[in-house]
Amino acid sequence: MSMRAFKRGTTPGILETNWETWGQAWEERKNHNPAACFHWHQHENTPVNQLLLPPLKEQTQAHCSFCDIFPVSPPGQETIEHFKPKQTFPRFAYKWDNLYYCCSFCQGKKLEKFDGNLLSPDTINYEFDRYFRWDFTNGYLLVNEQASLEDKKRASITIEIYGLNEGHPFLRMRELRRRVKDQQDSLDNFAYRNFLSTDDLTSDMTFL
Ligand SMILES: [Zn+2]
Repeated sequence: MSMRAFKRGTTPGILETNWETWGQAWEERKNHNPAACFHWHQHENTPVNQLLLPPLKEQTQAHCSFCDIFPVSPPGQETIEHFKPKQTFPRFAYKWDNLYYCCSFCQGKKLEKFDGNLLSPDTINYEFDRYFRWDFTNGYLLVNEQASLEDKKRASITIEIYGLNEGHPFLRMRELRRRVKDQQDSLDNFAYRNFLSTDDLTSDMTFL
């Protein structure tokens, strides 16, 4: 979104056959001990998250699914985000469409908060412009004032829970200046692609 729409690939075979069993096992462990910590299931001696990270990452061209930062590098870390938190929705812990490539910054912000109004970038028919707009003078992500009341609420909750205006506006402006100088390079090599993909990248950027 910052959230940039993406199309989810098909469920990896390893999850297709195991997601329900592994989710139920985690749910039972949690019910037995509410303080239990989540650990990724091991498949043939490899933690499943290591197997899932590459296909998840490919779907978003290695950009964080939520803030679109790129690359995800230290001090940030690559993580897999459970859109429906694994503590509250243990059965979805291994459900393919509940998993997102995510930077540790976004993951840390969320703090296991979940709201049914939250938007996700691969929701069918999700369109950035329907919910959001940009302030190009300062890099802030804004709620689209033309949106319906319900859409405004969804946009606003999404900005808040994912912390999309915390730290990012400054970095968006920096990335925009970099993009204005180098428009030949692939957009995928920049962070904040939705912010940079405005139609008037050159004509309207005199304030930079
Ligand atoms: Zn992020």
